[in-house]
Amino acid sequence: MRSRLCRLPTLALIAAGLAGIVTPTASRALGVETPSTEMERELERVHRAAAKDKPALAPAIDRRTLSVGEGDTLMDLLTGAAVPRSEASSAIAALRDVYDPRKLKAGQRVTVLFEPRRGGTRRFLGLEFVPDPVRSVSITRKGETGFTSSQVEKPVSRKLIAAQGVIRSSLFEAGSAAGVPLSVMMAFIRDYSYDVDFQRDLQPGDRFEMLYEQMVTPDGTVVGDGDVLYASLALSGEDMPIYRFKTRDGRIDYYNRDGESIRRALLRTPIDGARITSGFGMRNHPILGFSKMHQGVDFGAPKGTPIYAAGRGVIEQVGPFGAYGNYIRIRHNTEVSTAYAHMSRFAKDSRRGGKVEQGDVIGYVGATGRVTGAHLHYEVLKGGRQVNPRSIDLPTGEKLAGRELQAFQQTIRALEKSFEDTRGGLQLARTPGTPDEKGCSKATSC
Ligand SMILES: [Zn+2]
Repeated sequence: MRSRLCRLPTLALIAAGLAGIVTPTASRALGVETPSTEMERELERVHRAAAKDKPALAPAIDRRTLSVGEGDTLMDLLTGAAVPRSEASSAIAALRDVYDPRKLKAGQRVTVLFEPRRGGTRRFLGLEFVPDPVRSVSITRKGETGFTSSQVEKPVSRKLIAAQGVIRSSLFEAGSAAGVPLSVMMAFIRDYSYDVDFQRDLQPGDRFEMLYEQMVTPDGTVVGDGDVLYASLALSGEDMPIYRFKTRDGRIDYYNRDGESIRRALLRTPIDGARITSGFGMRNHPILGFSKMHQGVDFGAPKGTPIYAAGRGVIEQVGPFGAYGNYIRIRHNTEVSTAYAHMSRFAKDSRRGGKVEQGDVIGYVGATGRVTGAHLHYEVLKGGRQVNPRSIDLPTGEKLAGRELQAFQQTIRALEKSFEDTRGGLQLARTPGTPDEKGCSKATSC
């Protein structure tokens, strides 16, 4: 399976976010711990309230919050807490109705409930835990020997977030300073990779703004990132707004103000744009720019940065190729090909004759061949000759028209209003010494 550039970052981020909710604690620490997550505190409030309502029926419960140790099962945890094996096993059987106990991970906190100790014995009443930020699971005693399980799910809603910033050293840094999650920044960069050469087009002082969604629970816990709904990149003062729009036949895409799809047959930046190094001031560099001496475009990026197929096509050459080092050439149609050089290694399934889709990872940045440092050397070839990528613009030609265009124009107004409304409470990413504050502009070139 090829990894498409769109999916992985989001999943990784969500996974990281979820992992972050559960505080890993030293294994087998059997002491009582204080509830740490919102949900645990809420569970405790519910319990206290229940105990208050029916003081005679529900005396104070002895709660012990434990942590699942590395390699431990729920059975290990319960028997370790002195729950009789037969009771532990019927409680675990009841749990299976709502949750697979094998999914419990090391570090998961589990609260075990007992009746207060009377004499030498104390009765096991059940357990509770919060496997992820959107639900809690509990097992409660039912009668003398039985247990029953239940789970409570939290509603997740979409919250709009507005962000904006000034690009000083890199787009990634500007996004991070504005508090934009990495997965959202990656989506933003991907959307602009058709139009923008992130190595040469960005200049200090350029600005971005965007409106995106976040998935939140009622207590405000962020459980995932949604889509970028609107974005704008102002390069050298020229605004390039894009809007997310769903057509009547259900396709979702980004369009410019005129209703033209932003997609192109070739990406302008065929690399993970967030990882481009020293993106500024390379436009007129005699070696690094496009010139007769150097028939390609270089993207400086750390070794290992993923390289994407600029467009759909067939790999017609892959392997070491003289001064180019590890090299791939993709044929996109009878006329146009793209080539990628100096790779540290190829993606696992990059092979001659293999089909690629735009955005597939074909290899990784390296310094093989005749080079002084790690970078991607990228060429666009027309009829077998290197040409300036700028001279090749292959729009998909999709343009909204008629009623679809009218609906899109309404979407533009709604999104722009949402952005302004949301920005009302926005904390602008201001960093001391931005070019603007020094009074310089692009025209005076600081
Ligand atoms: Zn080069």
